[in-house]
Amino acid sequence: MGSLDVLEYLGMHTSKHVSNAGEDDFIFHEGNLEKYESGILSALALIQKNISENVNPFSGILPHELAGQFEDINLNAPLGSVDAALKEIDAIYLKDAVYFHNKKYLAHLNCPVAFPAVMAELILSSINSSMDTWDQSVGGTLIEQKIIDWSCEHLKLGVQADGIFTSGGSQANLMAMLLARDYYCHTQLNQHSNKHSGLPECASKFRIFTSEMSHFSVQKSAALLGLGYTAVITVDCDHKFKMKAESLRKAIDTAKSNGLIPIAVMATAGTTDFGSIDPLHQIADICEQYGLWMHADAAYGCGLMASNTRRHLLSGIERADSITMDYHKSFLQPVSSSAFLVKDKANLSFVTHHAEYLNPLSAHQEGTPNLVNKSLQTTRRFDALKLWLTLRIMGLEKIGRVFDQVCALARSSHVLFSLDPDIEVIHKPELSTLVFRFNPAMPAIHNSHDNDLLMDKCNQHIRKAIFRSGEAVIAGTKVYDRSYLKFTLLNPQTSLLDIQSVLKLIKQHGIEYLQEHTAFQPALISAPAQKTLEVTQ
Ligand SMILES: *Cc1c(COP(=O)(O)O)cnc(C)c1O
Repeated sequence: MGSLDVLEYLGMHTSKHVSNAGEDDFIFHEGNLEKYESGILSALALIQKNISENVNPFSGILPHELAGQFEDINLNAPLGSVDAALKEIDAIYLKDAVYFHNKKYLAHLNCPVAFPAVMAELILSSINSSMDTWDQSVGGTLIEQKIIDWSCEHLKLGVQADGIFTSGGSQANLMAMLLARDYYCHTQLNQHSNKHSGLPECASKFRIFTSEMSHFSVQKSAALLGLGYTAVITVDCDHKFKMKAESLRKAIDTAKSNGLIPIAVMATAGTTDFGSIDPLHQIADICEQYGLWMHADAAYGCGLMASNTRRHLLSGIERADSITMDYHKSFLQPVSSSAFLVKDKANLSFVTHHAEYLNPLSAHQEGTPNLVNKSLQTTRRFDALKLWLTLRIMGLEKIGRVFDQVCALARSSHVLFSLDPDIEVIHKPELSTLVFRFNPAMPAIHNSHDNDLLMDKCNQHIRKAIFRSGEAVIAGTKVYDRSYLKFTLLNPQTSLLDIQSVLKLIKQHGIEYLQEHTAFQPALISAPAQKTLEVTQ
């Protein structure tokens, strides 16, 4: 081929040819900024329409009702216009979405989001930086590192501290247990490296201690790490649902006398159900004495770091070897925004792997910061930008005040519920959850086993009936095998009046259930206490 022929041949593949065919209409680049803007504005209008029109946190739709609408959707046939596609999303998603910003969404650990973080989402998705290496992120690497350093500083983890953003608290807990396991093998088993040689023979004897109220990701991580569920020993809690330090000590002693090998304690700073904080100082003392890795799971409790009045509740966390942070729970951040922090950055090398094409050892030696060296993930979202922009626009103090406000609301709700004869409350909230159940005095079967079973079913019914009505969304949980209801308060818009109106719904559905299933007289139910509200507001 002559050089002209070659150019002619290559001409088939030039960008001109591609753009004539219209393939790049929807690709982000400098020639497409107007289309990009119009697309973003259409999406924005759709969000605004739904947020202003949907009064309730949920439509109440059932799975089979919604699933029917998916049957005729053919993903091989694009709809041909932005508007048509957004209209479809409106119908199959937004109309029936569960809205966390709604003040009657009281169910799980989902917060309303600070919109500076959403602005950051737009920026980080458009630019699409990936956090694995410096040559894919540059300033992004330094932004994430500064947020990590700032978090470590606030938690007083010391000068050797470091960390990494993760996909969530579960991944952070997995990293904690991985580091604990590998640290033990490295220091106690003659520098045995699990990374190189797999688990040592004695690994089946490794034991990890955690409270019976800790997050299930502890068990799941043990399974993933080749240790199995049996490696996790659950320690009982006191009446405030905090790990009993003395029980922990006994459990460790018993394990040792049975020839087992304690390696770590997974403490919880803010349990998912009760917001209870394990006795961190006592646990740190025990870990020091027995030479165990101490992890503090502050996925929920990390919000205390921002609080001026409740910061002391985290006292002792600075003694942990590692910490889990879920900014997407307590810092008003959109999913995902989480971090894993360690007291001694050297221990992060247990997850380091140098790949020649990506993060060669030579780059590390030259001082190039490649965050993939400390991460389980390779390609990774630039989530840190969301918290960055939130801190730079809104500021930490306001985040802290929001967390204080929802904790205070949980306390007032607790007072309100404690004074209500139809409601049984089982803890005084330390953070912003409230666990309780509808349990009116019913003389005929009061306190019997039958009453418990009836109330289990009644409370399960209440949660489902409220979800179906869409008027509010509340959670359910089991405590020592009994069914309870749970509020998780993270929205500063929610007021005690909202709590009171959801309480009314709970009673209504509860009474309906009892009327249908027993010979119960609704007159026995006390009227919603007007006086109570005055007292507590
Ligand atoms: C939510 C939660 C987790 C898990 O975090 P994800 O971000 O959902 O993976 C871990 N521990 C506690 C105490 C939690 O509340």
